[in-house]
Amino acid sequence: MGDDVIGGRRVGRLKKALQELEEENARLRREFSTKIHQLHTLNDTARALNSVLNLDVLFRLIVTLATHELGADRGSLMILEGDALKIKAAFGLSEEVKQSTGVRAGEGVSGRVLATGRPVLVKNREELDKLEVKSRGRYKNYSFVSVPIMIDRKCTGVINIDEKKSGEPFDEGDLNFLEILANHAAIAIRNASIHQRTQLQAVTDGLSGLFNHRYFHERLAEEIERCKRYGKEGLSILMIDIDDFKLFNDEYGHLMGDHLLKGISSIIKYESRVSDIVSRYGGEEFAVILPETGEKESMIIAERLRFLVETHDFSMADVKPKERVTLSIGVSHYPQHADSPSLIIDRADKALYMAKQSGKNQVCLYEE
Ligand code: GH3
Ligand code: MG
Ligand code: MG
Repeated sequence: MGDDVIGGRRVGRLKKALQELEEENARLRREFSTKIHQLHTLNDTARALNSVLNLDVLFRLIVTLATHELGADRGSLMILEGDALKIKAAFGLSEEVKQSTGVRAGEGVSGRVLATGRPVLVKNREELDKLEVKSRGRYKNYSFVSVPIMIDRKCTGVINIDEKKSGEPFDEGDLNFLEILANHAAIAIRNASIHQRTQLQAVTDGLSGLFNHRYFHERLAEEIERCKRYGKEGLSILMIDIDDFKLFNDEYGHLMGDHLLKGISSIIKYESRVSDIVSRYGGEEFAVILPETGEKESMIIAERLRFLVETHDFSMADVKPKERVTLSIGVSHYPQHADSPSLIIDRADKALYMAKQSGKNQVCLYEE
């Protein structure tokens, strides 16, 4: 009898141990399959991130993937601009928060991640209180995770994820996953930035920052095509040339000449509308495309530019030009004066020539 009881107890204990082992086994299997899933996800993620070269699209993709994979409702990606972090893409945040001003190193949780280059994982209210940061708005629970984006060993951004859908806190596994994702994101951001910069360099002029000659021609062809389909007003172009620039260079030196070129470029750029295409056409010549702009309006714009340059003080340090700096401007219009890009340019050139012939410092509209 006694032996039976002991034997029964032993069997009971064994059964319990076996059951516990099975549970542990099942848990490990779940964990393992989650890990495998995460590894696949990270692999796919890395591939997806590396295929995107547009920075804005990339930022949105990073936030969407991070938020989704951590089973969260809210996430943001902040990038360092100057000395502050700015939200570049977000998921589940209000427009107001998205537009909010930047966060500096040390400020709040993101600022701390930026300053230290280390991630922050908060599981509950007590941990949040210990961080001693200002409250970060409303929470379902107090758990969140913030990781740095490190490029060349420098923290250049932060990914913040909070509001886990399940209501459970984030754990070390989530943090780990997000850190790896942030590493992939960093590589992709670096590549996309380089690509964007190279693309920009290919269409801009180094000295003035304006579009270059090649880009002007590409865009003029495009804009004329667009005009043929939708344009009501047509478009105008301005050919702008600095008067007696050779004399200016001879008198004040090449450096001062460059300073003048930059100054005039800034005036033209500042006065133009977002849709205008402003380019440095040659050494001291500029060409501007004014989409949807009639002859009269373009003459007013050109006249204003001429006036602004004539009355501007281009002094630099101890160099004060004695003479006024002036512009001659030729204006032509599509379809009024011609119907192909090359002829429109030719007409503007002829108008510019007329302006020079008539004594410079003036605007001329093309005439037959
Ligand atoms: P006009 O009134 O007939 O236009 O006379 P101009 O002297 O302006 O014209 P010209 O074509 O004889 O000379 C243009 C000058 O522009 C000559 C060249 O040294 C100068 N130039 C062209 N590119 C640059 C540049 O990048 N920097 C500087 N400093 N000068 C430049
Ligand atoms: Mg010239
Ligand atoms: Mg000139």
